[in-house]
Amino acid sequence: MPDLADAASIRAAVADLPVAFASVTAAAGRIAGRVERAPLVASLNLTERCGHPVHLKLETRQPVGAFKLRGAMNAVLALDEPARRRGLVTASTGNHGRALAYAAREAGVPAVVCMSALVPLNKVEAVRALGAEVRIVGRSQDDAQAEVERLVAGRGLTAIPPFDHPDVIAGQGTIGLELIEDLPALALVLIPLSGGGLAGGIALAVKTLRPDVRVIGVSMERGAAMAASLKAGRPVDVTEEETLADSLGGGIGLSNRYTFPLCRALLDEVVLLTDDEIAAGIRHAAMEEGETVEGAGAVGIAALLAGKVHADGPTALIVSGGNIDPTVHRRIVKGDFA
Ligand SMILES: *Cc1c(COP(=O)(O)O)cnc(C)c1O
Repeated sequence: MPDLADAASIRAAVADLPVAFASVTAAAGRIAGRVERAPLVASLNLTERCGHPVHLKLETRQPVGAFKLRGAMNAVLALDEPARRRGLVTASTGNHGRALAYAAREAGVPAVVCMSALVPLNKVEAVRALGAEVRIVGRSQDDAQAEVERLVAGRGLTAIPPFDHPDVIAGQGTIGLELIEDLPALALVLIPLSGGGLAGGIALAVKTLRPDVRVIGVSMERGAAMAASLKAGRPVDVTEEETLADSLGGGIGLSNRYTFPLCRALLDEVVLLTDDEIAAGIRHAAMEEGETVEGAGAVGIAALLAGKVHADGPTALIVSGGNIDPTVHRRIVKGDFA
């Protein structure tokens, strides 16, 4: 990581990155009016605790309940006409799969989502309800991904991956533009970190406009692939483990091209949390902020509550998503999570 006290070195690093700031501003124009401009709301409770203004960027308010709609919408709208006619494909069963199905339907583009036979029926139905064709193949995520590759080769479908794609990253980066517009005094941003599309995109926008803003990625302690990769200096695999922040699981890809270089150049720090700390974040969101937030979306709140990050000025937390099993949510809010 560069010396982030030095604005000139950041500007030089940004100029060298595999995704350009201009792609983020182009994405903002493309997706305007097709995704929500999620509200940035003050948290009185966290502001009081931290002694600095703390704001929540509520991406839970997107139509599919997560920020992933920004990247998916930008990637779909960036396709040329022949690619639109042939259609899209992905193997994601989570927030990206839903976002891509929604974006494709809005744009009138056919979409196929490949899933293994082990994916729970509620996830299958959620994607189907958004108008995508669901193809059940094999018994693992690898089998589903192999089907994606067959459809790309055989039918000329365009695969849109969940994070390591310039248009996806640029779409997520539009959050950074909105933060600087809405909170010009911004000093610190906490961003949930998995594959790094969200953190890489936001950091690209924020550091280009305001190199002095600290940008920190937040992951769970166990199975944090980007944190392990940054430490190793190259993309590495980690063992996937159960976590309350289920949207933060999974690897970054050993042949990662975009998000690893972005995160390496632009993140000031990565903070890791236990499941107990994440549960406290979910509980705080429900009890103090009146927001239903999934584990991945609560890590910014959790990092402040756990004292693992100290706010030193106006702070924005990216509340990235709200898709949590209601039964699990109720149990956590009641406090019987261990
Ligand atoms: C995908 C996702 C993340 C992580 O985004 P990356 O771009 O993979 O780092 C965080 N929160 C939620 C709710 C997500 O769906």
